Amino acid sequence: MSQTRSRKILLLIILLLLATPGISPHQKPSKKSSKKTTSKVSKNKQSDSLAEALKGKKVPDKIRDSLKLVNIRYYGYDSLEHKGQLIMHKALAKDAAEIFDSLFVHKFPIAKIKPMSSYGWDDDSSMVDNNTSCFNYRNAANSKRLSLHAYGRAVDINPKDNPYILKNRVSPPNAKYDAKKRGTILKDSYIYKLFKKHGWKWGGDWKSLKDYQHFEK
Ligand SMILES: [Zn+2]
Repeated sequence: MSQTRSRKILLLIILLLLATPGISPHQKPSKKSSKKTTSKVSKNKQSDSLAEALKGKKVPDKIRDSLKLVNIRYYGYDSLEHKGQLIMHKALAKDAAEIFDSLFVHKFPIAKIKPMSSYGWDDDSSMVDNNTSCFNYRNAANSKRLSLHAYGRAVDINPKDNPYILKNRVSPPNAKYDAKKRGTILKDSYIYKLFKKHGWKWGGDWKSLKDYQHFEK
């Protein structure tokens, strides 16, 4: 091997070493090497504003002015941390944030929390998807009166696992209320006691029908 060629090869090796990550003094510590956490940011797109979350629904000014978009962190069915959003009455926003924070700390699993606009304001689609939600400008089920959801004063939690049952009618269809399932609300469960402590009523306590997903205040 000629001396010129050896020098060229040596130079090439030096250049390759400099280009290798971890060798350069300017290399920042890789984020991948930092301590692993069990949290992750949900891929669900978050709304930037109340107006965006209310997109596609005509809401009377008086009601719209009383609403607030509340950011929620929750413990998912996948045992990871997620971010969700609820549209709520302003007066209940702090209360709800405290409740959901407690649920997160106690690892009560929630499937997902997205505003109804993600489902074209269709309650059935949201229920089938097991989505937790609050505000929807609609009447109460089987009624001509506005629901408390229309004022942002009622929350439906994991609706597929906590269905609405009126005689033989179950919503969402084919849903089963199974005490053994995670995310099911029971009278002796932590979530029930927590909402009651904050002064909320539970639809599972009603006599004429059972609305296991529903809390209102
Ligand atoms: Zn409800």
